[in-house]
Amino acid sequence: MEAITTPDKYEASMNETGEYIDQLPNLINGIICDCIPRKKATIIYTRTQFNSHIKSISHQNYLKVLNNNKNNYYSECIKLREENKLLKQQVTNAHITIDVLTLRNKEIFKEQPMLDLLGMNDIDV
Ligand SMILES: [Zn+2]
Repeated sequence: MEAITTPDKYEASMNETGEYIDQLPNLINGIICDCIPRKKATIIYTRTQFNSHIKSISHQNYLKVLNNNKNNYYSECIKLREENKLLKQQVTNAHITIDVLTLRNKEIFKEQPMLDLLGMNDIDV
């Protein structure tokens, strides 16, 4: 039985001058490009399919939009890094709170004698 693989997401590469360009990716799992809505996208498995795809109008427009917005993507990336850092700190603080409350809860249970509210201790087995 063959393992089912999920196609990789194609991402344009950036050249030395900062322009997004197409570069043949690893096609072992197949790739799906974002230039076409996911439901309509076909999986690209071969070099020939890839070369044909990158010449399509939708892909050329996709690349153009990427290059026209690359400064926005950079500032958005910086903003998202800051937001991610803040969220990590909030998660860490939440974990610390959980640890403190768990410890306090254990201490409270140790101090309290076990109550037999249902009278289960009186039942003969
Ligand atoms: Zn594409």
